[in-house]
Amino acid sequence: MSSAVSPAVDAVIKPDFQSKKRHFIFTDEHDQLRDSIRSFVVRELQPHAEEWEETTFPNWVFTRMGELGFLGLSYPEEYGGQGGDYYANIVLSEEMAQSHSGGTAMGIAVHTDMATPPIHLFGTEEQKQRYLVPSIKGEKISCLGITEPDAGSDVSGIKTRAVRDGDDYVINGSKTYITNGTRADYIVLVTKTDVDAGYDGFTLFIVDTDTPGFIVENKLKKLGMHASDTALLAFNDMRVPADAVLGQVGGEAGREAALEVVQGWHDHQLGHEAVSPSVQDGVAGMAAVVAMTTGATTLAAAPGAATTGAVPPGTWSGPCVNMVLFF
Ligand SMILES: Cc1cc2nc3c(=O)[nH]c(=O)nc-3n(C[C@H](O)[C@H](O)[C@H](O)COP(=O)(O)OP(=O)(O)OC[C@H]3O[C@@H](n4cnc5c(N)ncnc54)[C@H](O)[C@@H]3O)c2cc1C
Repeated sequence: MSSAVSPAVDAVIKPDFQSKKRHFIFTDEHDQLRDSIRSFVVRELQPHAEEWEETTFPNWVFTRMGELGFLGLSYPEEYGGQGGDYYANIVLSEEMAQSHSGGTAMGIAVHTDMATPPIHLFGTEEQKQRYLVPSIKGEKISCLGITEPDAGSDVSGIKTRAVRDGDDYVINGSKTYITNGTRADYIVLVTKTDVDAGYDGFTLFIVDTDTPGFIVENKLKKLGMHASDTALLAFNDMRVPADAVLGQVGGEAGREAALEVVQGWHDHQLGHEAVSPSVQDGVAGMAAVVAMTTGATTLAAAPGAATTGAVPPGTWSGPCVNMVLFF
């Protein structure tokens, strides 16, 4: 063989399969955060993945992640958060996949990205101190109650009713498929305070789970994701003080709050980052795809799409987006 072949072979440019590809939304700081979360997840969570599929993941995961600052990555420092941007939360959810336990990732994500955001958005200072601060520390566990046995995708069908009685509200109804529902210290609860007001009849409450009348009916048996507890809950004449209302009672504000809880938090956060219009369009596109994928009837009702102007803003006139996609 001629020796002239070797230099030509060496000159072939090959892909560098070891090179790191980083999405343009992430910075060096996100990479450092990613390394730190991954090292924790691989060392402290991953070894338990199989065991937790039998037993559900233990509460110390919340306290440990609180100690490490991972439960409040994008919350303000004044509440114990890290003051980061929302992309830090995306890094967290990507790296939680290294736990090899979808159920653990789901339980944490419901806490960090679904149940606590409405408190940050709509809570009074007292509610933030009482619920958000200990949640960021991992000292309180949260859950979010939207879905009911007869109201899933179509959130307008919610029947859980809160009725004003003197200085209190009395709540009756039930919620199902509630992640963290058997272990939570409190629930962010979507109710109807005015059944005749349509979409303006929603009111959110924060309720301690040791309130008389709060009942964990069942820990549901699922096909998978066993590391996460999923509950059927009932509320039987559950009396809560008026200051348990999160945000406003009904009206446009109640509707906005319900929409944020159901879908809008991610879009809300991204809308507040200094992101380029192309990223915002991407978010609107994602919202639209989610809406279509899940069969929601009103595309323009996707709040992300409405806020970014990618499609004309519309009213919330059809079944809402399937929450399963968020988990
Ligand atoms: C593991 C797990 C954890 C969960 N955790 C929580 C939680 O923490 N809190 C909470 O509130 N909920 C939670 N949920 C509930 C979840 O949000 C609901 O399952 C979801 O909203 C869908 O409701 P559903 O199951 O009643 O399905 P349905 O609304 O009955 O939908 C069934 C099917 O019909 C389709 N469909 C519905 N309406 C239409 C339509 N108009 N056009 C075309 N297709 C349609 C849906 O896309 C779906 O495929 C959880 C669910 C699971 C599985």
